[in-house]
This record gives sequence, C-alpha cells and structure tokens, in this order.
Amino acid sequence: MTSPRVNLLDFDADQMAAYVAGLNEKPFRAKQLMQWIHQRGVADINDMSDLAKSFRATLLDKAEVLSLPVMKDEHATDGTRKWLLDVGAGNAVESVFIPEDDRGTLCISSQAGCAVNCRFCSTGRQGFSRNLTSGEIIGQLWFAEHLLRSDPEAIRRIEKYPTPGWEHTGRVISNVVMMGMGEPLLNYDNVVSALRLMLDDRAYGLSRRRVTVSTSGVVPMIDRLAQDCPVALAVSLHAPNDALRDQLVPLNQKYPLHELLAACERYLPFAPRDFLTFEYCMLDGVNDSDIQAKELVRLLRNIKCKINLIPFNPFPESGLKRSSDQRIHAFFGILLDAGMVATVRKTRGDDIAAACGQLAGDVVDRTKVRERALHKAEIELTELESDEDTDEELNARSNEQPIEWLKKLN
Ligand code: SAH
Ligand code: SF4
Repeated sequence: MTSPRVNLLDFDADQMAAYVAGLNEKPFRAKQLMQWIHQRGVADINDMSDLAKSFRATLLDKAEVLSLPVMKDEHATDGTRKWLLDVGAGNAVESVFIPEDDRGTLCISSQAGCAVNCRFCSTGRQGFSRNLTSGEIIGQLWFAEHLLRSDPEAIRRIEKYPTPGWEHTGRVISNVVMMGMGEPLLNYDNVVSALRLMLDDRAYGLSRRRVTVSTSGVVPMIDRLAQDCPVALAVSLHAPNDALRDQLVPLNQKYPLHELLAACERYLPFAPRDFLTFEYCMLDGVNDSDIQAKELVRLLRNIKCKINLIPFNPFPESGLKRSSDQRIHAFFGILLDAGMVATVRKTRGDDIAAACGQLAGDVVDRTKVRERALHKAEIELTELESDEDTDEELNARSNEQPIEWLKKLN
C-alpha cells in the first residue's frame, strides 16, 4: 500500500529543510521548493524546472501541493471578494480579500467554527468542528495571492497605488489579518507555523506590522506569541467591565479583564508597533452608552492602544442590533475627548456577508453550541445566563468534546 502524500503547504521553512534533508537532498533544494510554491504559486511538481529530475520523481511519489477546493467565489460591489473553501466532512471556511487604495488585505480563518461562542458572532453561533492545519491556513494566502495576480482589477489597483516593495515582489496581498472564522490562539501551533511562512522572505516576506492576530483573549497564548512570533495584536474587548464581558465573550470567565490587560502590557514590548489594538463591536443598548464609553477610557487609559469601534454586523438569529451612527459617533467622541486614539471601522463587503463576524462557512458543529442556542428563546441580553449557567455551559462543552482549547484552558 502506498502511504499518503505529504502536503508541502504544511511545512514552514525549518520543517521544509528537515523534510528535504530526510530525502537526502542538499539544503538549497528546500529553498528552491519554498520559492516555487510560495513565491511563484506553482502546485505541479513537474513544473519546478530547476529541480533535478530524480528529485522531482521522488517528490511526485511522496508529496503534493494541495490547497482547499473553492466552493464559492463572490464579488461585492466595493471590490471585496469572498471565497468559501471546502475543508472536508461537510465543513467549509471563508477567506475575504479587501482591496483599499494603499493596501490589499486578506482576512484568514484559523478554525472550522469557533468554540468561544461570543454572543454577537455568527461563527461562534455555528459551533466548532476542528482546527485547520497549518497548510489549510497558509493555503488560503497561497490561493488568494496567486489567483489575484491574474485578476485585472487587483493588478490595476496595485499599479495605481503600489504598496512598498510591490514592484520587487509582485505581491497583491500586502496585509494579512487572522480575523476570519475561529480563535487563532486556540489553534496555536498551526497558526504560528503559518505566521512564520507569511513573514519568511523565502515565502511571502510580509512585515510583522502587516500581519495581525486577533484574539478574544487567550491569556497564556498571548504570552507565548510574544516569544514565538510577535506580530501585530488585536484584542477583541467589546465591554468595559467583567460583568458584561462575561456575557458577550464567555472566555472572559476564564481570563477576566485584569488578567487580559496584564497580558497585553507584557506583549507591548514585543509588538511590532508601540501600541495594541482593541476591538469593540458596537451593540445597540448593550455596550454603547456614554457611561460605558467613560468606563472604557478608565480601563484603557494607561495602555498604549488604539480602539477600533466596529459597527455590529447583524446576522439572522443574533437578536442584537447595530448601534445607530449617532450613538457610535457620541461614543467615539467621548474616547477622543479623553485623549484616546480611536477609529470607526468601515464595513466592507456586507452585500456578500463578508464583513466582520458574518463569516459562517459551513460547520458541522461538534460542540452542539448552535443547537443549544436555537433552543433558547430570542437572545435578550437582559435574559442571558447567569455566570453559573455559563460556567455550566463551558463545562458541558468540555465534557462533550475534549477539543484543544478546552484542554489548554483546564
Ligand atoms: N476569534 C478572533 C478572531 C476572529 S473574529 C477574535 O474574536 O478576535 C474577528 C473580529 O470580528 C473580532 O474582533 C470579533 O469580535 C469581530 N466580530 C465578530 N462578530 C462580529 C459582528 N457580528 N459584527 C462585527 N464584528 C464582529
Ligand atoms: Fe470565536 Fe472570535 Fe467569533 Fe468570538 S468573535 S466566537 S472568538 S470567532
């Protein structure tokens, strides 16, 4: 019986070097392979013309470059593009390309679904199926970058507004944000392996400032990221106190605000810029009052940060509403008056449900989160579970599925 082929997209530079050494080939072959795959986007080993014929024959027998099959490719009127990618067994994840004048940003998924189950997030409401492999994570960049290089619209944009170094690298994607489906720091090893490839000059050569990990606050992994691969960090805050955050982001019960903010302070010296970003999703009547804005100022006053206000992107069954533009501006004004740095995020691609938190893909929910949510009455924040209930829910989930994140948390 022949053994299954390895997917070369799964290897970062060190792993590729080890693999090539294991085949008794010289180290420079690993570099050549990286360049063929990641810089030139070549998947067919037969086309890697400067590899010795015998090495190609070995690779054809043992290896392949396999990216995720595309199930859907959607274009929004503002140029945003969204792909639905098949990750097998009934699961699909989404990646989104967001073109802007001075950058091309790819939003990448890290898990099929998400077990954190934030109240306002459509991925969370879908439950969790599995972690993506590092090849499935980097494969999203591999696929989008090389597809877009032959997209006349993307080429026109970079010719008009070239990003630094573009002429040299030919890259269409200048920025990557881990803000698609899933909690990246609960799939730590695979995410770090993929991040290393994003930064590697032999692969995508992106600057650390242009690669962002967004997290709901997995404290121990924030510390590890600082050591292993300190890219830009965005922390999804969404509430100025523990009582509300416990309800909106259940992970807060495990890592409350004082622990999260302490981890942020520890991360700062390693961050590629001298500030962190806090994301705050604006939910009508829930977290958007003047009092809450002032509380947020008090909470973050001593941390070098930028607060990114995200107008809530509604999805069916959330039971929540977006704050009015007036309310968002009043809240924003309080932050600015207090001397905070803040922005209001432009919503992109909402005509194809590609905006933040609308990514749902298809998830075979192994945690039964969605089922339970549907059995609850309309989600009214006043009626959200007590802390006790939510703890119970977390425990119930851990009993059902010994998935990575719960193992790490417990
Ligand atoms: N799990 C990570 C990264 C993916 S979510 C995290 O939570 O940070 C990316 C961002 O979209 C987060 O800031 C998240 O809070 C936000 N988001 C989720 N649902 C949203 C919604 N419905 N509307 C607006 N933003 C949302
Ligand atoms: Fe998961 Fe992030 Fe959605 Fe929360 S906001 S459920 S952590 S993907």
